[in-house]
Amino acid sequence: MAELRIADVRKAYGRVQALDGVNLTVRSGTLVAVLGPSGSGKTTLLRCIAGFEAPDEGDIRVDGRRVAIRGAAVPPERRRIAVVPQEGALFPHLSVLGNVAYGLDRATRRGGRADAVLDLVGLAGFQDRMPHHLSGGQQQRVAVARALAPRPPVVLLDEPFNALDAALRAEVRRDVWHALRADNATAVLVTHDQAEALSTADEVAVMRDGRIVQSGPPERLYHAPTSPWVAGFVGDAVWLPAVLDGNRARTPLGAVPVTPAEGSLPTGPMRVLLRPEQIALAPPGAPDTVTATVVRRDFYGHDAVLALRLRDGTPVAARIFDPASVPPAVGDEVALRVHGTGRVFAHSGRRGPTRPSAPDEPHCGPTHGTSP
Ligand code: ADP
Ligand code: MG
Repeated sequence: MAELRIADVRKAYGRVQALDGVNLTVRSGTLVAVLGPSGSGKTTLLRCIAGFEAPDEGDIRVDGRRVAIRGAAVPPERRRIAVVPQEGALFPHLSVLGNVAYGLDRATRRGGRADAVLDLVGLAGFQDRMPHHLSGGQQQRVAVARALAPRPPVVLLDEPFNALDAALRAEVRRDVWHALRADNATAVLVTHDQAEALSTADEVAVMRDGRIVQSGPPERLYHAPTSPWVAGFVGDAVWLPAVLDGNRARTPLGAVPVTPAEGSLPTGPMRVLLRPEQIALAPPGAPDTVTATVVRRDFYGHDAVLALRLRDGTPVAARIFDPASVPPAVGDEVALRVHGTGRVFAHSGRRGPTRPSAPDEPHCGPTHGTSP
């Protein structure tokens, strides 16, 4: 248990500025997810924290003690920071117990720490298995158990669940979360998967081009993104052109109560952000509804997302939570109603970049799915 503080860290590889002034504090005993697209600098940040790379500028402190500063770094083995890499990298010739007990001193070994930590990750009884007799998920659990065994104050996980399929991934993630909690570890989980970050972390730090562009509790990031880019990266976004009218915005979906994205309401062209779950189907002809045509229907089991087009051509998306009982088909006309408040942003002329969708199609997608 320790506080990790990263201040103004910069790191370049030749002309690539991999870290461009990173500031991040991970409070003692909490789990922060660093969420960013591929190439945004996540691994470089973890490598600097772990001591495998030296930052060009800035400093990194664990409980106030400087571990990395230009030219005077504490070597990785003395930082007491554990790293769980993307693929477990177990010692193939050692049993599960041998792998987990590897870095432990004799007293800790005798105290049964390895067994206890295997229990934490759901592998009680696997002590004598060899790594090649384990599934991918089990190997990843062993890697986590090995990292946790010496009770490191800080644990770093670099996309540790990537190799696992969606169902197993959720299960291993939960067990790892419990293990980190039980140990009161301070942890940083790097991921490009928004669902993983939002569901697992106490706080999410969104990284883009070597900087943390917004950080905070998952709910705040999702409901109160401070930029269109973050809005689109952490979830599905519906963008509506808007004209402000007091605390409401006139939009193609009717009048929507709004909150400004950053303190004061912008002037000039505006757009409003809604999430697809704020747009619901209403009975045909009901008051305060807007008519739309279904363009596409994506079924996800627990919900479905309808891509729709309003009469003026504006694309929107609606998440339907009882897809079995509400079966509108492509081409159907439906009535829509907005719930809750939207967030208003200045209209920069660009649409919020999100997961790729065909240029002419309304943007939508799964909430709960795991991205590739
Ligand atoms: P992420 O983990 O978010 O995918 P990385 O930290 O691996 O991002 O990379 C950030 C940027 O730094 C990328 O542009 C990447 O190509 C570059 N980079 C990372 N490591 C090296 C390296 N050892 N040499 C040169 N460029 C690197
Ligand atoms: Mg990486």
